[in-house]
Amino acid sequence: MDLPIFEVAPKLARRPFLPIAARPTPVEGAPSLGDRIWVKRDDLVSPRYGGNKVRRWEWLLGAAKDRGVETLVTVGGLGSTQVTSLTVHGTDAGFEVVAVLFDQPASAFVDEALMLDHQFGGRPIVAGGYVRTAIQTLSVLRRTKRSLFVPPGASSPLLNVAYVDALLELSKQVERGEAPRPDRIVVPCGSGGTAVGLAVGAAILGWPTRVEAVRITELVVSNPLTLAALTYATERLLRREGLSTPRKLDVKLHMDHRFVGEGYGHATPAAETGAERFTRAFGAAGEITYSGKAVAALDVIAREHPDEQILLWNTLSTTGRPVV
Ligand SMILES: *Cc1c(COP(=O)(O)O)cnc(C)c1O
Repeated sequence: MDLPIFEVAPKLARRPFLPIAARPTPVEGAPSLGDRIWVKRDDLVSPRYGGNKVRRWEWLLGAAKDRGVETLVTVGGLGSTQVTSLTVHGTDAGFEVVAVLFDQPASAFVDEALMLDHQFGGRPIVAGGYVRTAIQTLSVLRRTKRSLFVPPGASSPLLNVAYVDALLELSKQVERGEAPRPDRIVVPCGSGGTAVGLAVGAAILGWPTRVEAVRITELVVSNPLTLAALTYATERLLRREGLSTPRKLDVKLHMDHRFVGEGYGHATPAAETGAERFTRAFGAAGEITYSGKAVAALDVIAREHPDEQILLWNTLSTTGRPVV
């Protein structure tokens, strides 16, 4: 496997890695979302089930295999894309996947996610509220040998490297003339690893590009401080792995709080419209938790910056899902 990240942090090449992503993912204009709008199609990163967790799993599953892990235990909302993604790719790679699920507002997308979790051979446990979810998770971890806990969102300094690499992948596509260098990247932000990785990648290249992290979950778990901490830790890890840019990275990352509404998984009128626009643009159903809020933000941000080339980093799988 030869990744662009190995050119900037060569010691990463010694880490265990399980290649599952189809790379590079396409970058293309999205006229239905506006002129000057581009999309990076990480929805297509795997024909089995795409989306922004797949690149992280390559590092996570590689490390888990290396350590003799047999069971992956994770936590998410009933409609969690992370749970579906880990179920698909974890079971493909030979792991048992146990997911403890907490309540989130009902929707067709939640039903679809539960169906996919089941169909892909996962073992979801419906726990209810946050406290019961925590208790259930601890009890599963206590009674499961050779298990690895994958926290909600699965951001960590090492896993964030996946999106530093993804930004470097985009830069090669820009060099080949497939798309302009974006002035701004819009991406939905939960645990923050995607936004942080992209912003760190842009800083390594010295790009002036700003990353707009569109907050889609509660402020206590997703805020400018958590992003700053992840950014710091990711840069520190990259330095240990051989990153040799001379000064501290100038990371241009901003969190946008305007689109989250009442919180994770809660609809807003703008998110409903965004989800419909996603469906029309990509031919797979959008939803209000991630893609709807990201497209809502994209519309507003594009209007606020009429002279910029803006890239939506698409994080929601359009593969492995029922056709709309
Ligand atoms: C996990 C996820 C996000 C959030 O990514 P983070 O790196 O946790 O901020 C956004 N969109 C989709 C579809 C996701 O599954």
